[in-house]
Amino acid sequence: MNWKGERRTTTAAHKTWRLAVLQRDNFTCQLKLNGCTVKATQADHKHNVKSGGAEHDVNNGQAACTNCHKQKTQAESLQARRRRGPGTPPPGSASLP
Ligand SMILES: [Zn+2]
Repeated sequence: MNWKGERRTTTAAHKTWRLAVLQRDNFTCQLKLNGCTVKATQADHKHNVKSGGAEHDVNNGQAACTNCHKQKTQAESLQARRRRGPGTPPPGSASLP
């Protein structure tokens, strides 16, 4: 089993949630982004768990294909990075004589 990089995705609760989401959406990707394969094999959190979304609520899940899920995850981490990024002036820059 792959140990690193895998966080909560191997727990029984997550597996049950993922399957319930996939079955509800008939294993059809709901994201339909560029390069969508339509056939969903993954469950995506509509509301990111990191930003307070319910982790094992079927209503917070949507079926996603590998391509779309990857794109959404990348976009989310990019947004998180931007939020933390530049924007605040360096300390001490406002101390003019
Ligand atoms: Zn897709």
